[in-house]
Amino acid sequence: MSYQALYRVWRPQRFDDLVGQQVVTRTLKNAIITNQISHAYLFAGPRGTGKTSAAKIFAKAVNCHHAKDGEPCNECAICKAITNGQLNDVIEIDAASNNGVEEIRDIRDKAKYAPTQADYKVYIIDEVHMLSTGAFNALLKTLEEPPANVIFILATTEPHKIPLTIISRVQRFDFRRISAQDAFDRMKYILDQKQVDYDEKALWVIANAAEGGMRDALSILDQVLSFSDNEVKLDDALLVTGSVTKQLLKKYFLEVCEHEGATALDTMKDILGEGKDGQRFIEDQISFIRDVLLYQESPSLINVESTGLKEEDFQELTKAATAETLYQMIDELNNIQEEMRFTTHPDVYLEVLTIKLAQIQQHHQPEAGAPSPVADETVEKLQQEIQQLQQTVKQLQANPRPQARPATAPPRQANEQPRVQQRKVHVNINKVYPVLENATRQDLVNVRDLWGDMLNMLSVPQRSLLHVSEPVAASAVGIIVAFNYPFLFQQAADDTTLLDNMENALQRLTGNERQVVFVPKDKWPQIRQDFIKDHGFGKHGPKVADQPVKQAPVADSASAPASPEQAPQPPLPDEPAAPQSAVDDPVATAQKLFGSDVVKVEDN
Ligand SMILES: [Zn+2]
Repeated sequence: MSYQALYRVWRPQRFDDLVGQQVVTRTLKNAIITNQISHAYLFAGPRGTGKTSAAKIFAKAVNCHHAKDGEPCNECAICKAITNGQLNDVIEIDAASNNGVEEIRDIRDKAKYAPTQADYKVYIIDEVHMLSTGAFNALLKTLEEPPANVIFILATTEPHKIPLTIISRVQRFDFRRISAQDAFDRMKYILDQKQVDYDEKALWVIANAAEGGMRDALSILDQVLSFSDNEVKLDDALLVTGSVTKQLLKKYFLEVCEHEGATALDTMKDILGEGKDGQRFIEDQISFIRDVLLYQESPSLINVESTGLKEEDFQELTKAATAETLYQMIDELNNIQEEMRFTTHPDVYLEVLTIKLAQIQQHHQPEAGAPSPVADETVEKLQQEIQQLQQTVKQLQANPRPQARPATAPPRQANEQPRVQQRKVHVNINKVYPVLENATRQDLVNVRDLWGDMLNMLSVPQRSLLHVSEPVAASAVGIIVAFNYPFLFQQAADDTTLLDNMENALQRLTGNERQVVFVPKDKWPQIRQDFIKDHGFGKHGPKVADQPVKQAPVADSASAPASPEQAPQPPLPDEPAAPQSAVDDPVATAQKLFGSDVVKVEDN
């Protein structure tokens, strides 16, 4: 017997076998039990999450005469014929290959005829978003006058590409990404049934690499099994997934936190030995530290299972370094990442990086006993000075050309602040202002409405990066997106692919070409205030003369989760300003002016 892929052999045959889609399966089973069957369904969700499996189970359940609790029996002739794809009344169409109008017209003509063997004729149209406009129109006509005893199940990974006229005529079900835990459990179950030995760590590596797709997880598992027929080994799993093991990243992280530079260098070489290039190593390390930082902030900010680490790992990791140290580490990583773009010797940079990371001083040990307030203050000052010195040293190391300094440059004063910023955060005001000049609340509301759809069009890492961001202002020409954490802002702002993808997605959703501009959330109130001042809403009154009607920049950060990085918010434009400040403070006055969607600016 030839080998059959795991995902085929273990394709779910009952709703209860579908992994990670409890909400969807419960609703579908209830519909069958109570006989409230709709004539058209849309199954939307990422690839490999069980959409077509669910469609086939549904086709069986509505036609099986021995169905129990909404589940098909899988034993009767009808069930077996559907499982084997041999029942003429259940028609599977791949829109990716049958996207012509003719094929859909064909459906229209044939759908009129009653089912021959089963109670219901079921059309399963996979990748339905691939249909041409003409084909969608033909499908729409059928959905508008649905023939009796015909059910359409449309499956898609890209629901936003389906015309609203179709969407409004179907019952929509959203299939979620499979959690790493669910993928892990399912693989464990299958391997136990097959009596194959496995290393649980290998299963976690596979579960994480599959990024939410059960079919992908089983395909990777297949490949790993091909190395050794009756065993799933960690090394093989790593080889197949090509992923740096999180445990190695953890080891490296803990070593640099313990200032064990030499050991960390060895670990780094082990990680690179896994076949990673230097850039990927840095990206992995940044996202690793980001997870630690978020967990430290609040464990609810991350999905621990999806990181490939355990709760205990995070408890250990968060104790190893303060937030301040973590931020410094990310700064170092960002700097080296930048420098490495132009080098042919990344190894040297990674070695320097490792030593630098291992030299970062811990500033406030969270576990330390509470010192007296006075001592604390003195220590803090001293620590600041040490920090400044360290940064000056770093700066010198980065630019080892003291003699090249022009003679006219004033010598650095002893008490002068080093110019290197703790966290380099650069906001491009030239891009922010044009958006604010024409921003309206309606634009912001519109953008927020389709934010989820836009996120669905991005990759998993991109989406997770945007998880801590939100649109705060929008106009016809652009959108301003604020990030909760400065280092995430920096990471996003450096990522031109992310910007491109977001702009493309938004254009596809709205038909408008809009520029996406990122800002750190803690700087946003200041940026907004500066804009109001710069645009003449201060003491001298509005200076916009030739635009009698001006739309107000509308911004909102009320829904932002609390963050330690967040500065106190000034009154929001749409909140009533405090009475006394409205009288004295030109900015508050301007904010009052901005209080309605359209502000009339008198020319005086
Ligand atoms: Zn049956």
